[in-house]
Amino acid sequence: MKQRAAMAIATSLSPKVIIADEPTSALDVVVQRQVMQTLGRLQDGLGAAVVLIGHDMGLVAQFADVVGVMYAGKIVEIGPVRRMIEAPKHPYTRLLVDSLPGIKVKQALTGIPGLPPPLIDLPPGCSFSPRCPYAFERCGHEVPQPQEVGPGQLAACHLYPEHSALPPMPERMSDTEGQL
Ligand code: SF4
Repeated sequence: MKQRAAMAIATSLSPKVIIADEPTSALDVVVQRQVMQTLGRLQDGLGAAVVLIGHDMGLVAQFADVVGVMYAGKIVEIGPVRRMIEAPKHPYTRLLVDSLPGIKVKQALTGIPGLPPPLIDLPPGCSFSPRCPYAFERCGHEVPQPQEVGPGQLAACHLYPEHSALPPMPERMSDTEGQL
């Protein structure tokens, strides 16, 4: 009910942009769905754009048209939602998608080894390099810039443009007790 009241307050002046920051955190999936349906109706009624911020890739996949994945304060990949889920190009996006439970194939869920870096003490080069199973020498000293990796899809990763798709996952690091 608090979420709904907050939505009513936030939309009372007919905004053109609605920023929904974790609008369903701590809700069960039934109420989560109701809240997202309410948000969807508001979006349609107002003709507003919604910027949905969250950690739940499953929820994002259902609601968003375009997804931007952030790591250490920067967008590392952005693109149409379907491509981002089915053909992610950035290793971090790949690992996020792999951490989702699937209903078609029964498999162990995997985490991402290590912890995100403190924003005031980022590692040199690519911020994801200490946790990235694809990291190579260049990643440790050169910050990757966003580049086009598909239709409407950009990724900041040194694997491109040499590769046209993300190569098969190298052998994972042994410690998988990480955080996203
Ligand atoms: S730039 Fe290197 S470390 Fe960063 S995500 Fe790409 S492969 Fe991994």
